[in-house]
Amino acid sequence: MKNKALKRLIYGLSLLLTFAPVYSFALTTHTKHDTVTTTGYKLRTIIVDPGHGGKPSGTTGNYSHGASGSYSSERNVTLALALKLQKELEKELPSIKVVLTRTTEDDISFQRRAQIANENKGDLFISLHCNSLPDRHIREVVGHKHHKPVYRTIEIPDHSGRGVLMLVYGFHRSKEEENAIKENVIEGGDSEMNASPDPNDPESMILMNEYKRKYRKQSIHLAELIDGELVDTDGRHNEGIREQGIYVLCHSAMPAVLVETGYIDNPDDEAYLNSEKGQDEIVASIVRAIENYKAEVEQVSP
Ligand SMILES: [Zn+2]
Repeated sequence: MKNKALKRLIYGLSLLLTFAPVYSFALTTHTKHDTVTTTGYKLRTIIVDPGHGGKPSGTTGNYSHGASGSYSSERNVTLALALKLQKELEKELPSIKVVLTRTTEDDISFQRRAQIANENKGDLFISLHCNSLPDRHIREVVGHKHHKPVYRTIEIPDHSGRGVLMLVYGFHRSKEEENAIKENVIEGGDSEMNASPDPNDPESMILMNEYKRKYRKQSIHLAELIDGELVDTDGRHNEGIREQGIYVLCHSAMPAVLVETGYIDNPDDEAYLNSEKGQDEIVASIVRAIENYKAEVEQVSP
């Protein structure tokens, strides 16, 4: 049974991988639904993760602090964006279930975010964040002593960051990803597919590597689609796509992208992030990117 299940999975995965090169061409050509058949793969569940909540009142735990601007903070902006994104996705793609990792301003742990994503069997994970730059340290002369200058170091805020940045998980955190895949996809799949990867078993290692390759590739592709919409359609400044080890992404056994929607500590970006127009544009861009991604992954040439 184990071998049969593995073969079935590897076959399914190689099918997906075979059609992966279609992506780069499909960027400009819109899907023609009447000329294609589908493999039966359907994008069903999207996890939307509003990054960095605030410290829940009455708690003393160690909560990460999100970025903040002059009048707004990451926890409010990302929650507003996530709620709008959920509404739009449900409107534009009614067959899709959207699960939010948090619906209040209170923060939740990275572990819990990943757990929610995996428990709900997400097909995609989109984390929404606001960026900021650390203070710059500057040495200035404050006087002289014995004809020598006396310095002090001051911190001045750096508001020069702007635009959008996409993050996908990097290779150096792949152990965490392996565990997530192992626990949630291979072990948690249907009973025929519950083979646990064993480092001494080449077949299960091939399977694991196929998953990693597939998720990484799909994550980068989705990041490209979102980045393209935000930059080309909305005219946002582009900071590009980076690979980085991020806990919440590594622990999601599904393609995952972290979207830095703008620099909340930059006055122009902060105004945009807090405006109806800005939020609507960001949400519409992400929805279009997901629509294109969905059409591509569900499409297989005849
Ligand atoms: Zn953040």
